[in-house]
Amino acid sequence: MAAVRSSCRGATLTVVRPLSLKSIFGGKSKQPTEQNKIILDQDNLFHKLSQSPIAELRDRGAIINKYGVCPVCDTECQGHKKPPVFECPDCGYPTHCSSEHYHEGKAAHQEICGILREQNEDDHDLRSGRAMKEFEFPSAQGFDEAVNMANWDIFFYTRAFPSMDSSRSIRHVSKLLTYPVTVASVLHESCPYKLGKEITPEGMRSLAALRTILYPRDIAKENTAPARTEMINLYVIGARAEATLPPHIWLQMAYLFPHTPFHIHFVGPDALPANKEPHTTSLNERLMFTYDNSLYHDYHEKIEKFDPYTDLFFLFSPGIGHPSARETWKPSIQKALETKCAIFLTGFDHADMANDIEAVEQDYSGEFDWIMKPTENEFRSMKRDINLMDLRQTIFANWGIWGIRGKHYDVTHQPEDDE
Ligand SMILES: [Zn+2]
Ligand SMILES: [Zn+2]
Repeated sequence: MAAVRSSCRGATLTVVRPLSLKSIFGGKSKQPTEQNKIILDQDNLFHKLSQSPIAELRDRGAIINKYGVCPVCDTECQGHKKPPVFECPDCGYPTHCSSEHYHEGKAAHQEICGILREQNEDDHDLRSGRAMKEFEFPSAQGFDEAVNMANWDIFFYTRAFPSMDSSRSIRHVSKLLTYPVTVASVLHESCPYKLGKEITPEGMRSLAALRTILYPRDIAKENTAPARTEMINLYVIGARAEATLPPHIWLQMAYLFPHTPFHIHFVGPDALPANKEPHTTSLNERLMFTYDNSLYHDYHEKIEKFDPYTDLFFLFSPGIGHPSARETWKPSIQKALETKCAIFLTGFDHADMANDIEAVEQDYSGEFDWIMKPTENEFRSMKRDINLMDLRQTIFANWGIWGIRGKHYDVTHQPEDDE
């Protein structure tokens, strides 16, 4: 938990990708019983963190007091830096060490004060005890239901999500659904990314292969090959928060492809709590999960075969470009490239994504083809994650997306090996 803050110039990039999303459900499993008491009314959602009626938010304030930074102390960069214990009356966050530094840094703070205020109210709303109608997700879609995945609004509308009528509801729900719906959005036939724009010709080949499995009816219609009802394997490597999502959240991805069973493999050191054994479980006959905390290149050896028609990879904000992680990632990326299956990656902001892309271009040059050019993700989380160690840093989970695939021809092959 302790932050390493070596630079007095601030802006030391601390990775703020969430490890878990469980707290969004209030920790304990809440049953919708008569015990659901309203703790906070809708006109009473703003509280200074230290005076919040919600223990979890008081704790958040305490964490900032302990590990956070006063931006004025940080910028002045001399001698002793004092912890942020002074709470801004407008956003309720402990932003500065003292009232003096608060007033000195007020102009700079204005940039994020509104963001923090919104976060404050959102987080109180989430724990207010009101009936969270926006979390009542639609069930299986009809076979002829035409879902459009152009963006969140159109997706929610065409998929008939109930009560998605405020930007606050969209922020709450998109923070969870960004993972399954980002995956679905690239696979879906109404994918918002277009050939020749974001999707390269190589990318179209990968997606067309996967869609022969996902849309067997189209094949049957064209009367070519018999429909394949094979399982799609989604390998989520370096899984973190996405592995802690309740299984029914992933069901929202499966519903979009009513013909196809999915097996989601969450692999990586943070895919499981330390005290849990790797295991496989299923939610229903169409959705299976494996949780395994090995490094991906070890897990890879357990898989018999890979097929670009049925298998793909997703790396959510992997941080491949971070100096501390780059070497660790290498054998795993190498294995994923060898499969020739599609690999999609996300980043939490422009710099994060650019950093990863630069590392991939340097370390795997000549070994991969682009399948999707880097672009902003239509299905990013609309709720920001705030770095408690430096409130000036905020991100959107899955802000951007890009894709690569191992090259079809290995240039080191002898000519006689090629067909
Ligand atoms: Zn200060
Ligand atoms: Zn403020």
